[in-house]
Amino acid sequence: MKTLDTLTFDNRFARLGDAFSTEVLPEPIEQPRLVVASASALALLDLQPGEAQRPEFAELFAGHKLWEQAEPRAMVYSGHQFGGYTPRLGDGRGLLLGEVLNESGEHWDLHLKGAGMTPYSRMSDGRAVLRSSIREFLASEHLHALGIPSSRALCVTGSDTPVWREKRESAAMVLRLAQSHVRFGHFEYFYYTRQHEHLKTLGEHVMACHFPHCLEQEQPWLALLREVIERTAAMIAHWQAYGFCHGVMNTDNMSILGITFDYGPYAFLDDFDANHICNHSDDTGRYSFSNQVPIAHWNLAALAQALTPFASVDALRETLELFLPLYQAHYLDLMRKRLGFTSAREDDDALIKRLLQLMQAGRTTDYSLFFRRLGEQAPADALHLLRDDFVDLAGFDAWAQDYLARCALDGGEQNERRARMHAVNPKYILRNYLAQQAIEAAEAGDYDPVRELHTVLSRPFDEQPGKERYAERPPEWGKHLEISCSS
Ligand code: AMP
Ligand code: MG
Repeated sequence: MKTLDTLTFDNRFARLGDAFSTEVLPEPIEQPRLVVASASALALLDLQPGEAQRPEFAELFAGHKLWEQAEPRAMVYSGHQFGGYTPRLGDGRGLLLGEVLNESGEHWDLHLKGAGMTPYSRMSDGRAVLRSSIREFLASEHLHALGIPSSRALCVTGSDTPVWREKRESAAMVLRLAQSHVRFGHFEYFYYTRQHEHLKTLGEHVMACHFPHCLEQEQPWLALLREVIERTAAMIAHWQAYGFCHGVMNTDNMSILGITFDYGPYAFLDDFDANHICNHSDDTGRYSFSNQVPIAHWNLAALAQALTPFASVDALRETLELFLPLYQAHYLDLMRKRLGFTSAREDDDALIKRLLQLMQAGRTTDYSLFFRRLGEQAPADALHLLRDDFVDLAGFDAWAQDYLARCALDGGEQNERRARMHAVNPKYILRNYLAQQAIEAAEAGDYDPVRELHTVLSRPFDEQPGKERYAERPPEWGKHLEISCSS
């Protein structure tokens, strides 16, 4: 075990030098206080939960103190935003404080978001508001608990520092943890500025630190792309299987590690709607729920373009073709589990598509609760109760018959089926309205609701007596909250 004072740093990215990042000190926020911390994220740094209660904790993560070994730097990157290329983005309001080397030999980036202006702030203030910091914190830790690859969040610190968005809000910081903060956009930046030596250094750094097996391949750059494709396919399969909408799938928000990254106006689907657009500013629905699959592919193609100095276009194209089949296989596997199947059958794909079409027809089926309730009782009984949530009843009955026949093929006992299904179908989901209620309390100075919500959502598959209110269907108003990028 470590304490805040005994963390070991090994700042590998900082050592790449000034072409990759710029030294910037955090700009503190006033009257810092701890809003919420994650015990399981603390454990990644070998810290006990009690460390978060020390006054130094809030001071460190509000920019008032810094470890001697930290080397805070703003990283440079670019990216395709809503399909158009922006030549220079970079950490405009976040700093990579350094990399902590934990006792298991893992490096964890400490990234302080909301740490003030940097050379990449463009026309903005370098700040993050309390609302968006809480949203990032809750989602990071919840997705991780759901088994969806994600960056992590150590804590949120709040303050009295005013920030202007549509109205006056207060500044906060969220400490993000990830094993790398390299994005697709890092590669694009060095490619489009024709700094191919630096591009090579970046790729070799990523491979050496994260995918050492790629360096042993005959074509390391193709192996690198393949690795990112595999990880991205797995991540997107999880998003689609669990109804997660990211909202801003720009290439600068795509992690090279294939983890969910840079939370903005995200949402979990309430009533299933494949066309759901969670980002109020996304007028054309480029990043709608069902577009996440082709957009991930498009983003991977943007990454592949940046690798053209090191591999032939034909070979890169061929590698890109791996994405859809990998995604499809992973998605099918997750959906089979969600439906309680223990084997794989040829027509499972069609059965799943028909179910989603029935949900789409009415848009009256709560996507998460459907699966939880399906496992709660023996299939015929569960289907009987779920039927009310569909509008095409004849279609549903036909589907239900086929589902029952499919369950019979696997056989097995209901108690086992329930346990198996409940282990993959969450009872508790981070719905926007739940986050909103907790945020409003926090904005009024009461942090208990955020802490409680975080605690409940960190065990999403478990029955939690007394917490049932968090597992209910959302109220009508809660389904139509408008969340935009202004964070
Ligand atoms: P995001 O939409 O959060 O992914 O951010 C896109 C780009 O805008 C990144 O380069 C961010 O660092 C930058 N950015 C977002 N908000 C701010 C802000 N308040 N101040 C400075 N830069 C920002
Ligand atoms: Mg971003």
